[in-house]
Amino acid sequence: SKENFFFIRGFMILFLSCLTIRVNLCFSSILSLKTLQLDGHFNFDEVHHAARDFGNRYQFLPLAVLHPKSVSDIAIAVKHIWDMGPTSELTVAARGHGHSLQGQAQAHKGVVVNMESLKGPEMQFHTGKFPYVDVSAGELWINILHESLKYGLTPKSWTDYLHLTVGGTLSNAGISGQAFRRGPQISNVYQLEVITGKGDVVTCSREQNEDLFDSVLGGLGQFGIITRARISLEAAPAMVKWIRVLYSDFTAFTQDQEHLISAENKFDYIEGFVIINRTGLVNNWRSSFNPQDPAQASQFKSDGKTLFCLEMAKYFNLDKAEMVNEEVEKLLAELSYIPSTLFLSEVTYVDFLDRVHVSEVKLRSKGLWDVPHPWLNLFIPKSKIHTFAEEVFGNILTQTSNGPVLIYPVNKSKWDNRTSVVIPEEDIFYLVAFLTSAVPSSKGTDGLEHILTQNRRILDFCEKATLGVKQYLPHYTTQEEWRAHFGPHWEVFAQRKSIYDPLAIFAPGQRIFQKAI
Ligand code: FAD
Repeated sequence: SKENFFFIRGFMILFLSCLTIRVNLCFSSILSLKTLQLDGHFNFDEVHHAARDFGNRYQFLPLAVLHPKSVSDIAIAVKHIWDMGPTSELTVAARGHGHSLQGQAQAHKGVVVNMESLKGPEMQFHTGKFPYVDVSAGELWINILHESLKYGLTPKSWTDYLHLTVGGTLSNAGISGQAFRRGPQISNVYQLEVITGKGDVVTCSREQNEDLFDSVLGGLGQFGIITRARISLEAAPAMVKWIRVLYSDFTAFTQDQEHLISAENKFDYIEGFVIINRTGLVNNWRSSFNPQDPAQASQFKSDGKTLFCLEMAKYFNLDKAEMVNEEVEKLLAELSYIPSTLFLSEVTYVDFLDRVHVSEVKLRSKGLWDVPHPWLNLFIPKSKIHTFAEEVFGNILTQTSNGPVLIYPVNKSKWDNRTSVVIPEEDIFYLVAFLTSAVPSSKGTDGLEHILTQNRRILDFCEKATLGVKQYLPHYTTQEEWRAHFGPHWEVFAQRKSIYDPLAIFAPGQRIFQKAI
């Protein structure tokens, strides 16, 4: 009818006008970015890489990728976007090594800052009583390790995998088996240089601009772009005794883990993992570990069972090898693992810290690295870890785990509750990390859908049973969920956002705040 015709025509005109406005906005954004005088450069064509991450599930194309050569390049770009005000759609995401899981370092139609391009200034070491190093936030931890060792020094707290950037891990927390003793990486930083949402370059620490310092640590990239960090160092050991033992009893396993993290000067690293129905496990370990009792160990069968592996490490220098052997023997005598399952190894400090990279090389060679990674990382209060394990390892994950399942406790006293990271309200809490890989296009138990359903079941159980669990490397899609995640800390988090990034320019991929346009 005539009415319909006019209605459709009107709708089409409106739609095309909106489209034209959007395309014009896009062009004017590109044009305006092109006018900026930078040491580095923008790339408007090769932007696909910035729309990918380790999770391999989310892909949001940015409008441009900034390859900064200097801190001022980033400040100029952010200031420019700030000056455009709320009329511009542009957002900014710092991209470290892009090892996020759900697009957290991506910026749909925005600007991605490739932090690894920011090479300078060179690492500056300060030796002395409290040694530290000043590094660019786009630096990989593996490079910091190698450089520090030239001075006989090392950072104190790590992640399991070192091919991650300083800015990326400090925006979360950065944890590994050293955290029970040293705290997370965010507890081992003295000072940061940050570019705020207005394009200001600000130095912050416990002594100077403390609120910004706390905001940014564990701040999920919401308050600014970290451009430089001052990281606390200590004397580096040469060697590591690396030990694994097995338990079939979860209570004995956690009791021993908690015993080991309760006192200083025991092991330097405590982790653990769950083994679900694995065949030939002990044989697989033999390439890198020696069973203390080879005959007994070869009788041990892991298939069909759920087992818990306690992993410990003790650092040492060769002149103290004898003494360390005695200490380790004494410590092991306090534990109640299955006696035939003691496995020992001695490796260099670098080989120990860079151990996951060995797996990366193997997986890459088999084409199994660039697959979807529907990981789930949870912090679970100590008082609820048995309830959690009973349901998750007893009912939900019984046949296979589709990847490692880490489980280890840390001491809350080593975390600073002024920072932005959210952790459970108990003195000891566990990290449980389901580090799954999905087989692309599989519809079976190793497929993405199945693993995501399993993750959902785990999260639903935690919620129903009110376990007080918090996600680590959190991922939510609505602000309601984020509010629940932060709980009583939400007000402070939102207030800090309004101070340091009032237009909500930064890290849109976290989906916490939306730029008001
Ligand atoms: P990206 O993925 O690039 O960025 C992560 C977030 O931080 C994004 O929101 C981004 O915008 C923001 N960001 C990045 N750089 C900056 C900056 N300079 N300033 C402000 N914001 C910034 N984590 C642990 O704690 N312990 C582990 O043992 C551990 N092991 C891992 C092993 C593997 C194989 C992988 C893939 C990840 C692991 N992680 C671990 C998680 C890892 O710490 C996070 O995913 C981290 O964010 C990755 O660092 P990235 O440099 O790739 O950051």
